[in-house]
Amino acid sequence: MNVETEALRAATLAETGMDGAGPVRVVLRGLFMACAACGGRGLFHHWWKMREACPTCGLIFTRSPGYWMGAVGVNSMMSGLVLLVTIVISFLLVMPDPSWQPILIPSVLAGFGAPLFLDPMTRTFWTAMVALGRPPGTEGHQTS
Ligand SMILES: [Zn+2]
Repeated sequence: MNVETEALRAATLAETGMDGAGPVRVVLRGLFMACAACGGRGLFHHWWKMREACPTCGLIFTRSPGYWMGAVGVNSMMSGLVLLVTIVISFLLVMPDPSWQPILIPSVLAGFGAPLFLDPMTRTFWTAMVALGRPPGTEGHQTS
């Protein structure tokens, strides 16, 4: 990225709270655990512990009480999809004589593992969705 583009990006970020990336890019940032506003990384202390704000641009993640209920909903939907795909694939693999163990064991593993594994992605994805619908503005960022 050249200096001019970087300066324009920084000015847009300071003015609107977002760096001017298009909606597809913002969604991809969310899916790949990057900051929706700036694309910065390092949003987590560890897999299940998110920082309060982006270390790059200062975007505050928890914008209102109950904010993360949307991420829980997204996590439930994505985990349900993973579980459904696991059940269907397991069932197809053991056809024509389906027995319960080859279907149940991977399904239980997916049922418990998917929500835990998907937690950080669903948080950043939810943050991206909210940032698209309600851009954070300058007050949505930490200063200091
Ligand atoms: Zn950021």
